[in-house]
Amino acid sequence: MSRNPVFSSFALGLAPDPYLTIDDWADKFRQLPKGASAEAGQYSCDRMPYVREIMQELSPQSPTQQVKVIKATQVGCTEIANNMAMYYMDIVPASQLMILPTEGLAKDHSNRKLTPSLRAMPELAKKINSGKSKDDIGGMFEKVYPGGMLKIAWAGSPSNFRSLSCRVVILDDVDGFKGDIDGEGDPLDLGKKRTDSFGILRKIYINSTPTEEGNSNIEAEFEASDQRHYYMPCPHCEAMITFEKDGFVFDYDKKTYEIIGDVQYSCPECGSLIDEFHKSKMMAKGKWIPHNEGHIHRGYRIPSYYSPLGFLTWNEIFREFLEAKSLMNKGDVRKMKTWVNTRDAKVWEEEATTVNVDNLPERKEDYGCEVPEGVLVLSAGVDTQDDRFEVEVVGYGKDMETWSIDYNIIQGDPNNPETRDALAAYLSRTFKCYDGSTMKIYAKGVDTGGHRSKAVYAFCKPRFVQRVFALKGANSADAPFINKRAGKNNKGKVNLFMVGVNAGKDEIYANLEITEPGPNYMHFPNKDIYSDEYFKQLTAEKRDKKKGIWVKKRHRNEAIDCRNYANAALALAGIDDHILNRGKRFGVVAGVQSASTTKRRRVISRGRR
Ligand SMILES: [Zn+2]
Repeated sequence: MSRNPVFSSFALGLAPDPYLTIDDWADKFRQLPKGASAEAGQYSCDRMPYVREIMQELSPQSPTQQVKVIKATQVGCTEIANNMAMYYMDIVPASQLMILPTEGLAKDHSNRKLTPSLRAMPELAKKINSGKSKDDIGGMFEKVYPGGMLKIAWAGSPSNFRSLSCRVVILDDVDGFKGDIDGEGDPLDLGKKRTDSFGILRKIYINSTPTEEGNSNIEAEFEASDQRHYYMPCPHCEAMITFEKDGFVFDYDKKTYEIIGDVQYSCPECGSLIDEFHKSKMMAKGKWIPHNEGHIHRGYRIPSYYSPLGFLTWNEIFREFLEAKSLMNKGDVRKMKTWVNTRDAKVWEEEATTVNVDNLPERKEDYGCEVPEGVLVLSAGVDTQDDRFEVEVVGYGKDMETWSIDYNIIQGDPNNPETRDALAAYLSRTFKCYDGSTMKIYAKGVDTGGHRSKAVYAFCKPRFVQRVFALKGANSADAPFINKRAGKNNKGKVNLFMVGVNAGKDEIYANLEITEPGPNYMHFPNKDIYSDEYFKQLTAEKRDKKKGIWVKKRHRNEAIDCRNYANAALALAGIDDHILNRGKRFGVVAGVQSASTTKRRRVISRGRR
């Protein structure tokens, strides 16, 4: 019955089973209370098989410390947090903190979900110290049990949890969290930090339906995860596929917006139509596949199309979509915004200029070497973050045709000398060219914005002669791309160059639209580091028509910044399209050399001394 050896004694009530994971615990013991959930009685993971892995990762047996779920409503995720909280009361008792957006929601969760759930499981309820009244199980915001306590708090009042230390933290519906209130700190960060003293034992569960792009906590959290999507075998061709909005097909009355017949899903592999009744079988054979493999945090996206049979049907979902669409055609976008957030589990993008770049990853090419023919000079752009540097090396040719050469993430705080040494080492490495020669990076631009300015000044100052330029982004709509007159009004007394980031991005985004190799075309190598995530970062911004500036539409955008700084460094080194069009190569250090590159090499050597 159970795969673990101590189950028999456990069944006799002798000892809790330490091998039990949360999903197994829920399948065996969890009773859903009447009234609080649609399906009262014994809980079953098989109703929505995608929840099983999430609960396994939240279990103490998994080394995962953070699990993030970006979800639609009505996909059966609400009980995950309760299963987790009750498991850590029952099987592996631990101190716990659950944070909801507001006091009202915290009360509601305690009174209408958690307490009835405990009441439905009398054996567990017995473990909890009784509350004030006979009917109460523990206090409304505190459930004390042997080995720990669950504190229920809300984001608006960080003072009621900021001094706690907990192994388990559940951050529920985080897009409802208001940011830093009265300077008390961001409740999401404050909540996470409560686990600091538990090190590798900590368990942080973050979930929410998303809201607006660039303003969504759960989107930022999901981006900082391995980004899993649920793949299932197509009943016709067996290919592993996901459900995505654009794959659904249906007829509808163009006047009344009523759906005619059934909504079906068109398999992206074989084109066959899949009926909704196939869903249960498909989901049972499904598996989570990361799109950002290797990230230490787990992330899961669950749109409403996965809603188990009996919850929300495809017909209902797309009837709502058509309703929202008809309103949107009349200028009211509110319903569509809600639909996108709560059904498609995606952030809402305000209408603005965005670059149509879905096919960028398909443009990747095999260079056959690090630096292909056509590249005349290399420039590097460095984006500075609190815990790492990100660097892109770009090759430039005639007519400003560009080739991405390499992208490198150097982990570590830039305040640490070792991190800066690693950056120095990378910036002075050589790259193999198509003809057997090797090339150095000729110009380098380093971002000094953010919290690490002093460290970056210290890095750039002695390297100015090696064309390492300290850069600072100027955000105003009309700032020129570069200002060759350096400012020195900074603590490090370093030559600091302002970069008009909007002007730079105008250029990059215009170049990305070019589809034919030649003038201004951007080439990308067939390297793993140029992942879907890279292209998302590169296209992370949209132009706000009113303000005339580019604004982030997602949290991570280092790739576009790196490219901007590489372009700026090249310009600051005095290399423009006129010079490139003469066809001379810069920075060649070994192998095939021309007269001009020999001369350049001396310049580099002098700088290094
Ligand atoms: Zn198929």
